[in-house]
Amino acid sequence: MSIRTAEQRIRILPENVINQIAAGEVILRPASVLKELLENSIDAEARHISVWTEEGGKTRIQVTDDGVGMSPIDAELCFERHATSKIASVRDLYQIQTKGFRGEALASIAAVAHVELFTRRPTDEIGTHIVMAFGERRLKEPARCNPGTTLIVTQLFRQLPVRRKSLRSTPTEHRHNLQEFLRVAYPHPDIAYQYYHNEERLYHLPAQTLPERILALHPTLNPNELIPISEETPLFSIHGYLLSPEKTPPDNRENYLFINQRFIRHLALQQALWQICKPLLRGEARPLYWLFLRIPPHEIDINVVPSKTEARLIYEVEIRQMLMSIVQKAIAQSYMPLPAGGIALSEVPLAQRTGSDSAPSMRVNSHKAKPMLFSGLRGGPSESPALLVAGRYLITSAHENGAWVIDVWRAYQRLSYEVFLRKGPLPAQGLLFPVHLPAGPEVLATFATWQNALAHYGLQIELREGRELVLHTLPAELPPALAQPLLEELFRLAQETPDITEAMAWDETLPKLLYTILEKQQPRSFSLQEAQHLVERLDQAQDPHHTPTGQPIRLFLSRELLESLFR
Ligand code: ADP
Ligand code: MG
Repeated sequence: MSIRTAEQRIRILPENVINQIAAGEVILRPASVLKELLENSIDAEARHISVWTEEGGKTRIQVTDDGVGMSPIDAELCFERHATSKIASVRDLYQIQTKGFRGEALASIAAVAHVELFTRRPTDEIGTHIVMAFGERRLKEPARCNPGTTLIVTQLFRQLPVRRKSLRSTPTEHRHNLQEFLRVAYPHPDIAYQYYHNEERLYHLPAQTLPERILALHPTLNPNELIPISEETPLFSIHGYLLSPEKTPPDNRENYLFINQRFIRHLALQQALWQICKPLLRGEARPLYWLFLRIPPHEIDINVVPSKTEARLIYEVEIRQMLMSIVQKAIAQSYMPLPAGGIALSEVPLAQRTGSDSAPSMRVNSHKAKPMLFSGLRGGPSESPALLVAGRYLITSAHENGAWVIDVWRAYQRLSYEVFLRKGPLPAQGLLFPVHLPAGPEVLATFATWQNALAHYGLQIELREGRELVLHTLPAELPPALAQPLLEELFRLAQETPDITEAMAWDETLPKLLYTILEKQQPRSFSLQEAQHLVERLDQAQDPHHTPTGQPIRLFLSRELLESLFR
């Protein structure tokens, strides 16, 4: 390869030169080394990770873990470029579950620094000690060491004076290191960490839950000011916390967005979050959040930059939209005041109901009691100072510290749904126009077995042999507009139920059926009187707060919120 003729001016670069070039992209400063070592320890399933840095990592970075360790062969291979145990094929690239996969971090670090490795698998008697310096192996020997892996990186960029000179002051590099540390400490609260800088212990974090980890790293935060966020959507799931925007320090620049446990800079999503919080933030603050998105690995590409801190999403636009409405809802819900006394509410807000792996065990921002929301409307429509916007949103001024906004359409959904939750017999109302539906003998036979049970729920259905079904009544509290779709849904059910002798659990089936209908309908508008009527009845609902799918029915426009909107 070293023979060069006029015909061959191109040559393949030697391995150590390639590694140095790669290092130029991956290893920019001590913090890049720290990030790669921490990620390797996490991929190695460590339960405890300890970090020691000196002079902001410029003179020494050490990471010790109690993970799976390496065999003597792997210990040697891990410094080779493109040496990885994490993927084997292109297909794996679209299914990545680990932090690393490029197999270039250790090769790059070893190309630009002095690296010492001690590693032992828990099942091995003896471990391996390897010393690499600026791309060359200096030593390999068996060694006694603890199970797990220790990597010690010193003399970073010693042979690259320009790079070395471009390193900043110790405090600045130290800050970068801490930043990288936090970006892995948050998404892995179940791992215990210790962090020392110049012999001083800065962090000692036990394995804990996410909210515990957030408070351990931000001891000045008030847990009541954390707004929990948790939601499953068809495209992604999300959990985490947002610091109440009004309580966010005016100079905050910190925020943490993780996708599949990896810290990601995603401008579009970050701006969406900012946009939502902006009216509530003080000064120049950016919102402070710890949000963890899970997106199926094949719908995300993180192989955009070598540091893997950027991502391309197939459904970016949709995810952005959904994220905005989820966060908006969580903020709105957090303004519900903590009422004094009242009746215990069996349900906790949606955000706390849907748990996930490292989901909060601590309850923050909970509202335990049922406030008397609509007592101001009790005296009847004429007395209540209420306002209806767009035929849908009823604003009441019944509360001294703010106003309730009630989504009347959702209240209507809730109340209609609850009609069938009651134990029968339900009082029936005759329909002015009975509903007719043609039906064949099989469906009629099924209805014959259902007839009595349905009458118990206020649904009187006549079977006209060989021809049709006629629905004559509905439960008294159900709007007649629901008669037609209800009969159609029952008809569909009869077609889909193969065994007619099987008894139906109507107390479960009917509410579900009704909700399927309501969900499909276009929201309708209401008159002020209708709206007030519905809202009055809402007070007696089993859950006046949420629709059956967990959407909020009303929001509280607190004085605080109004003040900050006007600020
Ligand atoms: P990647 O993480 O992309 O695979 P690295 O260069 O960071 O590439 O690491 C190369 C390989 O060395 C890893 O795939 C893994 O098998 C092994 N390795 C690195 N660090 C550790 C560790 N702390 N514990 C166990 N194995 C490790
Ligand atoms: Mg790695």
